[in-house]
Amino acid sequence: MIGIYFWKILGIGAAVYIFYDNYKKNRTGLGLILAAITLFFPFFAIFYLNFKSKKPLKNPKKNTELPQSFCPKCGHTNNKNLSICGSCKNMLTL
Ligand SMILES: [Zn+2]
Repeated sequence: MIGIYFWKILGIGAAVYIFYDNYKKNRTGLGLILAAITLFFPFFAIFYLNFKSKKPLKNPKKNTELPQSFCPKCGHTNNKNLSICGSCKNMLTL
C-alpha cells in the first residue's frame, strides 16, 4: 500500500519539476505534455533527466573549431585555411 503512494508522490513531484523546468525555457506546452506523461509513468522522469543531462554538451565548442586570421593590409577576418585575403587578395603569411 505504501508503495503506491510513494510512486504517486514521486510522480507528482517529478511532473511539477519537469513542467517548471520547461516553463523556465518558455516551453509551457511541451512541459505540460511531459508532466502529464510523468504523472502516469513516474519512470519517464528518469528518461527525461538522462536526456536532459546529455544535451548541453553540444553547445560550448563552436567557435574554437575555426581558427581565424586578420589580414595585415585591410584587417579583414579570414579563415586560417586561406592563403589569400578574401577581401583585398593580399597574400597571408603566418
Ligand atoms: Zn585583406
